[in-house]
Amino acid sequence: MADDIINMLIVGSGPAGCTAAIYGARANLSPVLIEGSQPGGQLTTTPEIGNWPGAFANPSGYDLMETLKKHATMLGTKFLSDRVVSASLAGEVKELTLGSGEVLRARTVVIATGASARYLGLEGERTYMGHGVSACATCDGFFFRKKEVAVVGGGAAAFTEAIFLASLCSKVYLIHRRDGFRAEAVQVDRLRALEQEGKAEFVLNARVTDLRGDGTKLTSVVVEQGGKEREIPLAGVFMAIGHVPQTEVFKGGIETDAEGYIVVGKGRATATSVPGVFAAGDCADRTYRQAITSAGSGCQAALDVEHYLNG
Ligand SMILES: Cc1cc2nc3c(=O)[nH]c(=O)nc-3n(C[C@H](O)[C@H](O)[C@H](O)COP(=O)(O)OP(=O)(O)OC[C@H]3O[C@@H](n4cnc5c(N)ncnc54)[C@H](O)[C@@H]3O)c2cc1C
Repeated sequence: MADDIINMLIVGSGPAGCTAAIYGARANLSPVLIEGSQPGGQLTTTPEIGNWPGAFANPSGYDLMETLKKHATMLGTKFLSDRVVSASLAGEVKELTLGSGEVLRARTVVIATGASARYLGLEGERTYMGHGVSACATCDGFFFRKKEVAVVGGGAAAFTEAIFLASLCSKVYLIHRRDGFRAEAVQVDRLRALEQEGKAEFVLNARVTDLRGDGTKLTSVVVEQGGKEREIPLAGVFMAIGHVPQTEVFKGGIETDAEGYIVVGKGRATATSVPGVFAAGDCADRTYRQAITSAGSGCQAALDVEHYLNG
């Protein structure tokens, strides 16, 4: 094969992509990493990370991701500031077209494009993101201990978040636009029991219309319920209305599930339906969606690439 063919092409610069790059570089695979439109990935949007092992000074997501990039660069990873707009993955040599028009050819591809949380589209979400607004109770619940919070949503994820938060917070409101749920009955019963104890409150047939604050942090949510407006004072609101895997550009070329998550585990943990193409992090994980689990699967992807290239 010609020399201009990249051994290991990584798409995405979040914890999964950067960790794959660190391992790939140390295995002499000369990785090339395409950063995408969000260099450093989702973590860069949060002011404090409290659960990255060893980082007990709670660094900002931006600072943490800068150290991962520095580590990968130091070892020889080439970072490209561009994004993939189309991909041809079949065959021994994969071809990925970038926004600039450049076409990259590679023996292996690691897809690490993440999954974005869905938001309501309210102005207050942007203003108070990381300052009261979150989409991850596991990540941020700790910062709201003994405070009142709300979870928006009516599915299994919303109930999981609400039950978890009820163990940390003084009270959890579950705000849902209907009065039926897409969660298991056992979860609904658990939250109902917590409501009896005064630890939870169901706010049903309610639509969040505003998120208010003092300019620096969130102080209340406003809901419209039965034609009336209700303002609920609280410190945090957790959106649990779904995630969208960023896999659109690979659609058709690779097996995904009904929601667009890449199907992995075809022999090796990160192997996809296409030989030589691996997926790591949130784009292939509908369950855990944490920085550390993404980094872990980025490591697995690099080891799987090495295994594939060694035949
Ligand atoms: C506000 C917030 C706070 C969070 N806090 C925590 C926390 O405290 N602890 C924790 O463990 N987790 C936290 N998370 C979750 C964590 O950020 C994710 O689980 C993790 O970032 C997923 O890593 P990833 O590498 O799979 O994808 P991402 O971090 O989402 O990175 C995806 C990358 O893919 C790139 N990309 C996408 N499409 C393309 C394309 N077409 N071409 C090229 N590149 C592309 C993007 O630019 C980006 O660089 C938080 C998430 C959010 C949103």
